[in-house]
Amino acid sequence: SAQRSLSVLGATGSVGASTLDLVRRERENWSVVALTAHSNALELARLAREFSAEIAVVADEARLPELREALAGTGIEVAGGCNALIEVAGRGVDVTVAAIVGCAGLAPTMAAIEKGGVIALANKEALVSAGEVMTAAVAKHGATLLPVDSEHNAIFQCLQGNDVAHVRWITLTASGGPFRDWSWEQLCAATPAQAIKHPNWDMGAKISVDSATMFNKGLELIEAHHLFPVGLDRLRIIVHPQSIVHSMVEYRDGSTLAQLGPSDMRVPIASALAWPERMNTPCDPLDLAAIGELTFRMPDEVRFPATRLARDAAHAGGAIPAVLNAANEVAVAAFLAGQISFTRIAAQVEDVLNTYMPVPPASLSDVLDVDSEARQRARELMEAA
Ligand code: NDP
Ligand code: MG
Repeated sequence: SAQRSLSVLGATGSVGASTLDLVRRERENWSVVALTAHSNALELARLAREFSAEIAVVADEARLPELREALAGTGIEVAGGCNALIEVAGRGVDVTVAAIVGCAGLAPTMAAIEKGGVIALANKEALVSAGEVMTAAVAKHGATLLPVDSEHNAIFQCLQGNDVAHVRWITLTASGGPFRDWSWEQLCAATPAQAIKHPNWDMGAKISVDSATMFNKGLELIEAHHLFPVGLDRLRIIVHPQSIVHSMVEYRDGSTLAQLGPSDMRVPIASALAWPERMNTPCDPLDLAAIGELTFRMPDEVRFPATRLARDAAHAGGAIPAVLNAANEVAVAAFLAGQISFTRIAAQVEDVLNTYMPVPPASLSDVLDVDSEARQRARELMEAA
């Protein structure tokens, strides 16, 4: 079949690396257009050479000279800065993998959506913040939004061929993170190094902290609410420490469909890259006899208030999920920098939610305004504390 053109936004990250590992194994099927990074210019240059990208972009403009030097004489175009990133994301390719971390990925992802191709979405914060602004743009421009987040990819697969009207429950599974069994006292003293060591998944620092606080599952609840229109009351969370069942859909006749797989992001990424076909991955086959037991339990919202905050934010709708996301991004950065304790993350998000209730955003620029105002409020509350 003909080659498909591909851009990877956030190519130097964990999801970016997993994506390019799959592309590397079937180079003949893909022509790489744009690869982007924030500041890791040398790794970006290495990838751009390996994949013969048309253009490499660093969002941090200060790194452009380094990138230009590293790609001198290759014929690969280089660019730097946020506006360049947005322009390049909007060049129009068959498939865009949206794998930037945080709301920083929103504007470039929206630029890709406006070109109407396939958007393989890992960047959940963008959808959480923009909500209907993003889903409306997807509909308006005829884009195809395919979830890469493993739970949402699982749900997407379990919904194929079924009408959402028949859904009784959608159940998101959660590993529970590295602190699943820790007491409140232990959580109060948890360090960044402990938080970024996830038992099952190898991920970027921000999502690892989100997994430890359960904000990751909270963001995923809001993400699922936008992707799968069954109503918030039909979305549930269950803790499943083995991370083998990636999520489930129960229908009204009592049938539950689940998607299982190894804890390897290359599986859901491959599903999105090949959809509606299938492609090979080098992942280990699922060896259930070796795994032995799959266990499930209810989440504990006392030790981990994040899912409660996220559910309330989803019910409130409008700008509130963007406030929750921005406050969380600020709190996670502060925790990673050693400025606040682990348990302050959720407390600080709740403080921001209690003091800042902007009106629903009608456009991308409204969402970006809410995001920056919420960050400002979060920093002020942190300094006052
Ligand atoms: P990483 O931190 O590993 O990578 C983030 C990528 O985004 C890097 O390429 C980074 O560039 C780039 N980036 C960071 N900040 C900016 C910015 N301000 N502007 C432009 N680019 C930026 O993250 P992950 O790959 O772990 O996660 C990416 C997204 O996918 C997140 O939204 C996460 O929630 C989601 N996700 C990740 C999973 C995983 O297993 N990792 C699973 C499910 C979802 P640089 O290298 O230069 O810093
Ligand atoms: Mg996930």
